[in-house]
Amino acid sequence: MADGILPGLVKGMATTARSLTRRAHTAEYPDVSPALPSRSRGVIALTEENCTSCMLCARECPDWCIYIDSHKEEVPPTTPGGRARQRNVLDRFAIDFSLCMYCGICIEVCPFDALHWSPEFEYAELDIRDLLHEKDRLGAWMATVPPPVALDPGSAEPAEVAAAAKPARAAGAAAGAGAAAARPARVRPARAGTPAPATAPEVSTGTPEPPTETLAAPPVAETKRLPVVREPSEQTSEQTSEQTQVLPTTDPREPE
Ligand code: SF4
Ligand code: SF4
Repeated sequence: MADGILPGLVKGMATTARSLTRRAHTAEYPDVSPALPSRSRGVIALTEENCTSCMLCARECPDWCIYIDSHKEEVPPTTPGGRARQRNVLDRFAIDFSLCMYCGICIEVCPFDALHWSPEFEYAELDIRDLLHEKDRLGAWMATVPPPVALDPGSAEPAEVAAAAKPARAAGAAAGAGAAAARPARVRPARAGTPAPATAPEVSTGTPEPPTETLAAPPVAETKRLPVVREPSEQTSEQTSEQTQVLPTTDPREPE
């Protein structure tokens, strides 16, 4: 047994002697603030404008330490004859940091980016009840939230950036209206035996001239599907025989 203790004792004394010659690594907190990583989990900050009171975070919190109160408010219609809508108004949002276990689930599930991690950790209290932070205090923590870390070079573009790059809906509708104005007006095929119009129908000003082939009469097979009732004096002999099949001039029930 003495053989096992003696080498261990010597080894321990050698380690102590080595440490005596090194400089101490002491964190000088609170005189010197520690350099924490930007994604440290210090406290949860709230962007109140983003919160829609959907209650997802409160339902997913494993400690049930998020408290939300809200009421509904009627929003008048923006257009005459429109329907009034309802929206949630946040009355209370509080997190009890005496219960929170800093799991981050509430931040992950929030669909509107209303919750963020802040590395700030200096909010110890003498009274545990003061660790219940209401929405004003949670909102004040937003000033300590660092900007998001830059994406890795070569990574896929975020979906939000791609959505923001799309043209606005109003601009798209205006473009659609412009395209409709540029579309040539439909022209009915000229009747056989009637003179063709001298000029093409007017197209809205400021738009390019429609190509001439779009104004040409459609094929005959297409026009036959739409029977047209005409006065007997207007019909040619060929049309008369064709028209008679569609609209008989005599009642077949009557004896000839
Ligand atoms: S970090 Fe976890 S425990 Fe704390 S409030 Fe969010 S969900 Fe609840
Ligand atoms: S999940 Fe987000 S938007 Fe929904 S209540 Fe919580 S903080 Fe508000």
